[in-house]
Amino acid sequence: MLLSGGDINTGVPESDMQDAIPDFKGMNLLGYDAMAVGNHEFDNPRDILAMQQSLAEFPFLSANIFDAGTGKHVFEPYTTFDLDGLRIAVVGFTTTDTPKQTSPENVKGLDFQSPVAVASKLIPELEKQADIIIATTHMGHYQNGNHGINAPGDVTLARSVKGIDLIVGGHSQDPLFKPDLQNDTYIVQAQEWGKYVGRADFEYTNGQLTLTRYQLIPVNGSEDDKVIPENQAMLSLLSPYQEKGQQLVEGKVGAVDQRLMGERSEVRFQPTNLGTLLTEALMEKSGADLAVMNGGGIRSSINSGEITYKDVLTVLPFGNTLTTVDMTGKEILAQL
Ligand SMILES: [Zn+2]
Repeated sequence: MLLSGGDINTGVPESDMQDAIPDFKGMNLLGYDAMAVGNHEFDNPRDILAMQQSLAEFPFLSANIFDAGTGKHVFEPYTTFDLDGLRIAVVGFTTTDTPKQTSPENVKGLDFQSPVAVASKLIPELEKQADIIIATTHMGHYQNGNHGINAPGDVTLARSVKGIDLIVGGHSQDPLFKPDLQNDTYIVQAQEWGKYVGRADFEYTNGQLTLTRYQLIPVNGSEDDKVIPENQAMLSLLSPYQEKGQQLVEGKVGAVDQRLMGERSEVRFQPTNLGTLLTEALMEKSGADLAVMNGGGIRSSINSGEITYKDVLTVLPFGNTLTTVDMTGKEILAQL
């Protein structure tokens, strides 16, 4: 089975400007069986998400997103497979941080409930109809369940709810080179951006599921030198989108004489020259006395030399809105 932890949307300008259509077509060709709904699936208006769902030949799963009005599931909570008589249920869960991490307009009327609370009721039900239960999640893997300011992730789910055999996760962009076994649940994650294909082989004998092999297989573009030849069918499917995307983003917009630092490891923890440039641009645009920007919204560095529209979109992929407020100095200090 081929499963995705979600967040197909946002981050690659050529794809973003084409509503991730190339990604979903590529996933169809790869033969994905199911995908978890990620927070970035809500970066676009809901009609675009609906278009992506109809384009995909696999279900978008989330058992903990409800319509606030009707109390009904907005996505399929789970799907089942029959592999030569072996009954497998795949259930999806989405981080409850989603409404904080995306535009309020796109999650209006949605109720993101606790995955642990939903799973506590749903998993015992699924155990009656399936031999194996897999959760494909977009909640994050946090070492020893220490999720900090983030909503609880896969470790908390596995420790709180018995009966999930495997969690295929995403969101924290964590390369798990060994599965994390918690409460008889294997948790796996293949980092980010298609850098790896995570492969887990299991044996199922007399009701016992045993992990026999687990690998993160590097894909081209990672540090590994072994180059995997391009697949001709995939290349011909995606080339027209790549060409169209390049035309859309190749325009030069400026130049810079030093590297502008936007790496996650720095920009989320301290000011950098890129963060300062961006906030100064916000001040100039708005006429405000100071500007504040979330370091998590700066997604890449810019190298010394010419800057293209693509560079700008890679740094700032979210289409955020600049907002000004009147505050006293005292209020600003309290905020900081
Ligand atoms: Zn995410």
